[in-house]
Amino acid sequence: MNLNEIRALDEQYYMNTFGKRLPVAFDHGQGVTLYDTEGRAYTDFFAGIAVNALGYNHPAVTKAIVEQAGKVCHTSNLYYIEPQAKLAKLLCENSFADKVFLGNSGAEANEGAMKLAVKYFYEKGEDRYEILTARNSFHGRTLATIAATGQEKYQKPYAKLLPACVRNVPFGDLAALRAAATPHTAAVMLEVIQAEGGVVVGEADYIQGVRALCDELGLLLIVDEVQTGMGRCGALFAHELYGIVPDIMTLAKALGGGVPIGAVLAKAEVAAAFHPGDHGSTFGGNPLACAAALAVVQTLLSEDLPAKARKTGAHLKAQLQAVAKKHPAAVLDVRGEGLLLGIALAQDVAAGEVVAKLLEKGFVTGTAAGNVLRLLPPLILEEADCGALCRALDEVLGE
Ligand SMILES: *Cc1c(COP(=O)(O)O)cnc(C)c1O
Repeated sequence: MNLNEIRALDEQYYMNTFGKRLPVAFDHGQGVTLYDTEGRAYTDFFAGIAVNALGYNHPAVTKAIVEQAGKVCHTSNLYYIEPQAKLAKLLCENSFADKVFLGNSGAEANEGAMKLAVKYFYEKGEDRYEILTARNSFHGRTLATIAATGQEKYQKPYAKLLPACVRNVPFGDLAALRAAATPHTAAVMLEVIQAEGGVVVGEADYIQGVRALCDELGLLLIVDEVQTGMGRCGALFAHELYGIVPDIMTLAKALGGGVPIGAVLAKAEVAAAFHPGDHGSTFGGNPLACAAALAVVQTLLSEDLPAKARKTGAHLKAQLQAVAKKHPAAVLDVRGEGLLLGIALAQDVAAGEVVAKLLEKGFVTGTAAGNVLRLLPPLILEEADCGALCRALDEVLGE
């Protein structure tokens, strides 16, 4: 089908929750290059919203998926699952965690994390059930994760359905967090870098202060690494950049290399709060998703892609800063860590329009809240790939 035929079907049959889509349908990809249905090539600087960390058709990931699909995609969690057990081991060996639970998405992982935190105190006989999260955050689209997502535009239509014990406080304000905590507070859930919220990098003092406050008040710290994790920010997990250790961490997006999977990771003492029947999932941790994720994590580690993301990210950021210098009226700020970068634009330069123009020039990019152009390229991006994007951005900003 060509783009117009696909568009006609979409407009007739698909629920319109994504607004007007960008005028392209990608057909296949190789490395950091995507090809659309009309045969045009694009360099990818968005990775399907931080999902395709190894780019497209990575040999290890494709092989793992094809081989597992030829064996069994799903068995249910009534039985032992080899790739699930191996993935859990690998994630624990490379993080603070001792135990893993697998679901199918970031929102599901965050739901699981919130349930685990509350169950932890239930087991201890402590009446703690509130979760504090940050304003301007993003934690997902289910009811509890919308409540956690501190953005009114997502919460408003569903306000009455949202759990009232999930409350939002200003990001970066330790005093406000302390003031919001009550004897019923169970956990604080945060992104150390707010990605959807505009690539807002948490200050080290603040993130470390949150950890210390949680210790002082006996709260659990949940770090949502759904977008920042899996090497994206130049460390396997972004909280490592801050020298802190969470009690619970959630992962999704890049974990499965494009196959849906989410994970809740916790220390043994916390994980022990989940007893048989407390949580579950039909699809979660299925052999196909776990085989894909296993290949992703093995490749991230064996090729040291977090270090590569740090290096390529620093190079790209410096080039972007040079472009910003040429357009001081258009660019307010260039920020981010590793290959999670945001270019904050002035009011009269719509980030969405910049994305559309870059797409016309053969570059896939995206936006974030607050009129920010967001770059999330596959971690396999080479420094040599960065110059062409920066020249195109220079041209677009010049128009
Ligand atoms: C994308 C995202 C989520 C939600 O993940 P889904 O897989 O879309 O449910 C949660 N938290 C963060 C930080 C995210 O970026």
